[in-house]
Amino acid sequence: MIIAETINEVRTQVKKWRKQGLTVGLVPTMGALHEGHASLVSAARQQCDRVVASVFVNPAQFAAGEDLESYPRDFARDCGILEGRGCDMVFHPDVPEIYPAGFATYVDIESDMAKQLCGKSRGTHFKGVCTVVSKLFLIVAPDKAYFGEKDAQQLAIIRKMAQDMAFDLEVVGCPTVREADGLAKSSRNAYLNETERKAAGVLYQAITAAQKIIAGAAGVFSVAAAAATAVNGVAASAETVRAREETAVTAGGTETAASKTKAAISAKPAAEAAAPSIPAEPVLNTMYRIIGAEPLAQIEYIEAVDGETLMPVDHLKNGDLVALAVQIGKTRLIDNFRVSL
Ligand code: AMP
Repeated sequence: MIIAETINEVRTQVKKWRKQGLTVGLVPTMGALHEGHASLVSAARQQCDRVVASVFVNPAQFAAGEDLESYPRDFARDCGILEGRGCDMVFHPDVPEIYPAGFATYVDIESDMAKQLCGKSRGTHFKGVCTVVSKLFLIVAPDKAYFGEKDAQQLAIIRKMAQDMAFDLEVVGCPTVREADGLAKSSRNAYLNETERKAAGVLYQAITAAQKIIAGAAGVFSVAAAAATAVNGVAASAETVRAREETAVTAGGTETAASKTKAAISAKPAAEAAAPSIPAEPVLNTMYRIIGAEPLAQIEYIEAVDGETLMPVDHLKNGDLVALAVQIGKTRLIDNFRVSL
């Protein structure tokens, strides 16, 4: 694996590959690599001829008082992981290589999508992300660039930025890799002590409870769809419909949340049945209740938003996002899931 520290080295190498007609995949990271990052490298390895990863703790995306200095760094270990996954080149610049003295040009996204979720507490974060990612796009000029769905807001913003700026590449989103108890892998999990690490499991417990409520509602929709088909001449007994409705609702974790959801669904006019949606409130309330019961957890937000625009929604439909940020002790953790109805 080539270790490149300068923009020039990267450009020279990528040009050689291009001359040979090879495609290039880019995996931007801040190092302290784990299986989540490694899965992005593996995806790039499968889809591209050459894989470039960057390891750069980007000062521009940290605000004063955030963990820039203490952010975990272990480049030798990172290289082992990257090489193990078949990465061809790692770009490991120092700060002045990316932000030389007098650096003054930033890429920012003015859309409201950057002001939602993490944007509310991290006002300049996405400007820093957009700046470094666009600079990496210009340095590497990849065919495809890989990002984790774990940072769903970041992924949505990068997709928008790439589209707005006509970057000639495909942004590829990759599924969240989790620990055995469901906690999303994150470099920041290293900050958690043993007690906090156990408590952090509550994020995924809340996610699974929310998903159960949604799965219950999805069951009701499939029954409604079956009933509609029956009206059109295909058999589906009312008995089966009733039985499946019961199952769907009791699968919803708390009876209250599930019944509220069911009531709201039933109240929806038939015309809306084609685009199913369920009220977000009982889902979010369940998550608040589960995480709120953990003494070490401080909820920053738990929100339901449109999967593309990231604007808040009060009804959940397919593709929407339920996202949360929770502080466990002093460590801020984020997670999310996409609604499937
Ligand atoms: P970071 O080093 O935290 O900036 O992350 C670099 C890339 O890895 C980003 O695209 C993240 O979304 C992605 N990533 C981080 N954690 C995970 C995870 N648990 N599963 C999948 N991708 C992840």
